[in-house]
Amino acid sequence: MNISQKRNGLIPGLFIITILYFFLPFISIIFALAAFLCMAIPFIILTTKKKNLWCRHYCPRASFTSVIGRKKGNYKKTPKMFNDGYLRKLLLTYFTMNLIFITGSTIQVALGNMASMPYIRLFIAIPLFPLPQLYDITISQWLLHLSYRLYSMMLSSTLLGVWFALRYRGRAWCAVCPVGTLLKKIPTRENI
Ligand code: SF4
Repeated sequence: MNISQKRNGLIPGLFIITILYFFLPFISIIFALAAFLCMAIPFIILTTKKKNLWCRHYCPRASFTSVIGRKKGNYKKTPKMFNDGYLRKLLLTYFTMNLIFITGSTIQVALGNMASMPYIRLFIAIPLFPLPQLYDITISQWLLHLSYRLYSMMLSSTLLGVWFALRYRGRAWCAVCPVGTLLKKIPTRENI
C-alpha cells in the first residue's frame, strides 16, 4: 500500500484524513465544516508554491481511492467520457450547483425562510438519515444545515471516487475531479 502510494507520489497514510473526515461528524456534525479546509488548502498551496503539490503529494482523497482501488496491472480502461472532457464538465457543473444550493439554502435557513435539513442527502436529491451524535452540541440551525450539506457533498463525491477506483483504477476520480479541474485552470510554473 505504502509502496504504491510512494510510486504515485502521494505521501503515505493521508487516506486516514479522509476516514477521519467521515467519522468525526459522528461525534459532532460540526466537524463536517472541515470540508472548507479541504476545498481551500489546494488553492492556497497552488497560489503560494506555484505548483500543484496538492494533487501530487497531499490529497487525502486521492490517497484513499489509491488504497482501495484497482492495483497497477489490474487496471480497467476508463470510458471515453473520462478523457474527452464530458464527465469533467458534468461534475464541475454538479459541484458548482451544489455549492450554490448549499450557500443559498444556508442563507435561507439563517433568515428563517426555510427549515434546516439535518440529515444526509446524497447527490442533492437522495435524502437519507441524520448521523448519531456522540456529543449533542447545541448549534444554530443554519450551522447544522451547512454542516450536513457539506458532509453530504463530500460523501457523494467520495462515493463516486470509490466506485471509479473499484471499477477502473485507484485515481480514476482524479481525471474528472472538480477541484483538480479548477486547479488546472490556474496558471502555474508547472501543472500535473
Ligand atoms: S484531482 Fe482531485 S482527487 Fe485527485 S489529487 Fe487532485 S484534488 Fe485530489
